[in-house]
Amino acid sequence: MEYKYNGIILNKKDVGEVDRIYTIYTLEAGKIRVLGKGVRKPNAKLAGNLESVTQAEIFLAKSRGMGKITGSIVIGNFANIKADLDLVNKVFYVFKILARLISDEEKDENIFRLLEKYLAVMDGLSGEEDRAGIITIGLMFKILDEMGYRLEVEKCVYCEKKLLLEKNYFSIARGGVLCAKCFQFENKKIPVSNESIKLIRIFLQNKLENLIKLRASRQEINRLQVVLGEALDWVGGSNIRL
Ligand SMILES: [Zn+2]
Repeated sequence: MEYKYNGIILNKKDVGEVDRIYTIYTLEAGKIRVLGKGVRKPNAKLAGNLESVTQAEIFLAKSRGMGKITGSIVIGNFANIKADLDLVNKVFYVFKILARLISDEEKDENIFRLLEKYLAVMDGLSGEEDRAGIITIGLMFKILDEMGYRLEVEKCVYCEKKLLLEKNYFSIARGGVLCAKCFQFENKKIPVSNESIKLIRIFLQNKLENLIKLRASRQEINRLQVVLGEALDWVGGSNIRL
């Protein structure tokens, strides 16, 4: 049987003498792993269309076991990302987390569209490390949300009162923010700044492409990264922050 997918190449791994296994996030089937047979031969035409951080139409032959790639057409090359070390590092960070967090063949059109949009936005950035950082963190919060981990950042997860601008805490085990009175009831928590809370609200309420307008200091980005790391560890069931 021949199948066609719209997919984003997350990563590739050499196997055997001349083959590769590709991990691809597809619109039609979520994350899949497929075989590129002979793609490492010197005259193989397929490999160029299957670089990581490429969106392509991918044709697969599949009967039993892993599908084999029979052809591909590039839809998005994202050449600017590939040429910029900072951008490519951030994109690979996202891809690595997704590869671990998301199970194979769980279709999620919204996650696919988020990824597609993320690559388009990142491809338009250059030398804007902080902005690329915010977009990347924003994307991860949106993906967690999409996966069903909606973080409570409006009211205290314990007393349910609206959060005030005070010394609040974040507890992923409780699913969100604890107020200055209630944090004492939870052992596993980290401080969270009011600015971080505000930014997470913005991430969850706005389209990814609009996050490009956001500004945050390097210090605030680092703080958000800590909160995100807590959330990813919890969801991934192990230490997966990178
Ligand atoms: Zn409270």
